[in-house]
Amino acid sequence: MAITHFCPCCWSEIGAEPVCVVCGTDVRDLSPESYEQKLLQALYHPEPTVPVRAAIILGELGSKTAVEPLIQLAAFTSDLYIQEAAVVALGRIGDARALPLLNQLNREGALRVRIAADRALKALTRGKR
Ligand SMILES: [Zn+2]
Repeated sequence: MAITHFCPCCWSEIGAEPVCVVCGTDVRDLSPESYEQKLLQALYHPEPTVPVRAAIILGELGSKTAVEPLIQLAAFTSDLYIQEAAVVALGRIGDARALPLLNQLNREGALRVRIAADRALKALTRGKR
């Protein structure tokens, strides 16, 4: 079930390789918990593509631990791509704590964020019925 397309230490793309060619991290040594922790830390990585990747992977993992951090990220980032990725991830995880923020972004967000928020809301409300 490993969803490891990126090295969780340096965020280089590693595909299916078990060892990162850039920094030498053996991704097999990481427990799912520590991988999740690395992803959570990566939400505030200075290279803007890294939080986007991290948010997407957290969404794929369905990480409940990531719900509050993703809400914070989506609420305060000024990067629309990061905001969009956080919103998509919140929709995938499907936790009702995200509803107030998703409703707000669906009304007030930039166009691409509004579209993502609309989809996330539909996914969330479908999941509950
Ligand atoms: Zn690496």
